[in-house]
Amino acid sequence: MLDFKSLKLLPEIMEAIEKVGYKNPTPIQAQAIPHLLEGKDLLGIAQTGTGKTAAFTLPILNRLGTSKKKARPARMRCLILTPTRELASQINQNIQDYGKNINIKSTVIFGGVGQRPQVQAMSRGQDFLVATPGRLLDLMGQGHILYDQLEVFVLDEADRMLDMGFFNDVKKIIAKLPKEKQTLLFSATMPKDISNLANSLLKNPVRVEITPEASTVDKIDQKINFVDKTNKPLLLESILKDNTIKTMLVFTRTKHGANRVVKHLDSFLIKSAAIHGNKSQGARERALEDFKRGKIRVLVATDIAARGIDVSNITHIVNYDLPDDPKSYVHRIGRTARAGREGMAISFCDPNERGLLKDIEKTIKQSIPVDEDHAFHGVAAQPSRPANRKGRPPKRTDRPKTSDSGAVSKKKKRPSQRARSR
Ligand code: AMP
Repeated sequence: MLDFKSLKLLPEIMEAIEKVGYKNPTPIQAQAIPHLLEGKDLLGIAQTGTGKTAAFTLPILNRLGTSKKKARPARMRCLILTPTRELASQINQNIQDYGKNINIKSTVIFGGVGQRPQVQAMSRGQDFLVATPGRLLDLMGQGHILYDQLEVFVLDEADRMLDMGFFNDVKKIIAKLPKEKQTLLFSATMPKDISNLANSLLKNPVRVEITPEASTVDKIDQKINFVDKTNKPLLLESILKDNTIKTMLVFTRTKHGANRVVKHLDSFLIKSAAIHGNKSQGARERALEDFKRGKIRVLVATDIAARGIDVSNITHIVNYDLPDDPKSYVHRIGRTARAGREGMAISFCDPNERGLLKDIEKTIKQSIPVDEDHAFHGVAAQPSRPANRKGRPPKRTDRPKTSDSGAVSKKKKRPSQRARSR
C-alpha cells in the first residue's frame, strides 16, 4: 500500500499528518493526491467518510505553501464551496490542522451568524476561503469578495448542493470565477445536472471513483428490528439500556420526528439532542460539541443535517425511520465505521416500511440480518402513552420482558442475542 511518504508532500505537512495520527492514505487520497499535485483537474465521486477532505486540502496546502504569494484584500487563492455550515467549519478546521506548520491563512463564511467578522477576515486577504453559497453570494454582491487571485476552486458535495436547492447560487458564483484555475468537483452521486456541470467546468479531469457502498457496508454490523411504529420509542430506550453504547446517531425522516425522539428519550432520562435545519447555528454547534465531548450519548438527526457531522467515533447508528431513498441508508450507516473503524447499524422497520427495506437490500445487494431477540419483535402496537418520569415505559400485560431483566419473554427465549439471517 502507498504510504504518505511516497506522495512527496512538504515536510511541514507530513509532520502535521503524523501529529493527527494518520498512518496511510485512504484510497481516495492515494489516487487523487499525485494528480492534484501535478495541477490536474479532478472529478471525485466520493462521499464524506472516505477521507476526501484531506484528499483535496493536502495537495492544495502543498501548492499554496510552496509558492508563497500573498492574497490582497478581498481575495483568496483557493475557494472551497460546500453546502452546510458544519462541513464548512470542519474543512476549515482540517486546513488549520494540516497547515499548522506553514504560514497559511484560512477563513470561513456561512449564514446564520453576523457578517462583520467574515468581512473583516476577507479584508485581510486569505489563502483559503471555505464558504456556503448563500452568504458568499451576499458578500460578493456587497463587493467584499474578488476572485482575480484565485488559483484553485473546489466544489464539494455537488449533489447535496442540488438537493438543498443551492444549485443556481453555485452556478452564479462559478460564473464569476476566472477561467484559468485548477478545479476539483466532488459528489457522492452523479445526477445529470452534476455531470453536465462537471463537463463544462473541468478540463481533462482525472476521475477518481470510490464506491463506499460495498466497502463501508461490509465493515458495519447491520441488523433489522421489525417493530410496530408505536413501539419504536420503547425499543430505542431498551437498546440504550446497554451502557456500553457511548455514541449513537439516530436518524429520523423528518425534523418533527427528530424532536419527538428527543422528547421520548428525555422522558426516559436519556440525554440527547436533535440537529436539523430548523435549529439555529448555535444550537447545532452546541449539540455537536456536547456529543463529541460525551456530554450526551445520543444525537438525533435528519439526513441533510447529518451530512455535516464529522464525529469519528460513532459506534452505533439507529435508523429510527427507514429513508425514502435507499442511497441514504448507505450514507447514514457510513457515519459509523469511519476511516477504518467498525460499527453497528440497527434499523427499525415498521409494517409500512417493508417496501423501503426491500429497496435498500436491492441497493446494497445484501439481505440485512433480522434480530428476532429484541424486546418488541412481534409485539402488537402499543397505544402511544408517554413514559413516566422514572424512565419506565407504560405497563402492558402483553409486553415481553427483556432478557436482561431476567424474565422469560413471551416468545421462547433464545440462548443467543445475536442477529440471525433470514
Ligand atoms: P472525510 O471523508 O474527509 O469527512 O474524512 C473522514 C474522517 O477520516 C475524518 O475524521 C478524518 O479525520 C479521517 N481521515 C482522513 N484521512 C485519514 C487517513 N489517511 N487515515 C485515518 N483517518 C483519516
